[in-house]
Amino acid sequence: MRKCQRLSTKFKRPRKSSTVKKSKKDKRRNHRGVDKQMKFSILSKGDKKSNEIRTKIKSYLTEFKLEYDEEEPDLAISVGGDGTLLEAFHTYVHRLDQTAFIGVHTGHLGFYADWMPEELEKLIIEIARTPFQVVEYPLLEVIIRPKSGEEEDRYLALNECAIKTSEGSVVFDIDIKGDHFETFRGDGLCISTPSGSTAYNKALGGAILHPSLEAIQIAEMASINNRVFRTIGSPLILPGHHTCLLKPLNERSFLFTIDHITRTYKDVKSIQFRVAKEKVRFARFRPFPFWKRVHDSFVSDDYSS
Ligand code: NAP
Repeated sequence: MRKCQRLSTKFKRPRKSSTVKKSKKDKRRNHRGVDKQMKFSILSKGDKKSNEIRTKIKSYLTEFKLEYDEEEPDLAISVGGDGTLLEAFHTYVHRLDQTAFIGVHTGHLGFYADWMPEELEKLIIEIARTPFQVVEYPLLEVIIRPKSGEEEDRYLALNECAIKTSEGSVVFDIDIKGDHFETFRGDGLCISTPSGSTAYNKALGGAILHPSLEAIQIAEMASINNRVFRTIGSPLILPGHHTCLLKPLNERSFLFTIDHITRTYKDVKSIQFRVAKEKVRFARFRPFPFWKRVHDSFVSDDYSS
């Protein structure tokens, strides 16, 4: 099973805005000059091409006197695909206010990994020479509360949290902002972030949300709708100040998939979702509008801006 970091319930309050900003580190670099160089780490998908690019980036950035530091990087570079960037995110989920992310895609164009291998030289020079700006995207907070008095578990998702069971269907009472909304019976539910709306959520018929929106989206997986069971049947988009609470009505063990990571939970009392206080920060060296990425990924590559 891949690495997944459960978060303590105590955390630093991050910045609120989701607009483009200069990173704190850049200011330090500007004020202190070359003595205090930026620290970086690189996570590769592990295939030959990604490993070669990883080696190349590491050697060039080290030549530029940037420091390689896997423990406390200012910039985490993922080389592979969006899946690799999800791994990088979960590696540094405990220090999101200090680590920014950037992704090189060694396959087709990605949503998070939006630099291509042919742009490598430009990217390396940008990282080495220029202060970077950051763009912040909202995250999903998931809190799983057990029936016993044990401590609750808290996770952050960059894409989504999907809940299913291997024991038939799930049955949940769904409360939204403290009021009962519906009783869901079906294969499961997918609660996604705006940047995750192009992933699993899209395959479930959910809407694509621009990541500047502070929201989460609930998409159904094969709900049972008949005279006995009735659900809304369409995806719901909740604003930042609304909480969604699921209360299991059958004794099932649940499969939680948080991005690429799967966990099983038994005896669950409730699961709470909302927009997290933390944000993910992407290093931005050139504009690449979200709708262009959507167009290029799902429509065609002839987008004219
Ligand atoms: P995977 O099953 O190996 O790959 C899932 C695919 O989703 C990959 O092609 C990945 O792109 C792409 N992807 C990831 N994040 C995306 C995003 N925000 N927007 C658009 N596409 C995105 O699994 P994985 O690589 O470990 O990634 C886990 C993710 O898979 C989950 O977070 C979930 O969103 C997604 N997933 C999708 C479905 C579905 O669409 N039916 C079902 C299960 C899970 P790359 O090729 O660039 O890595």
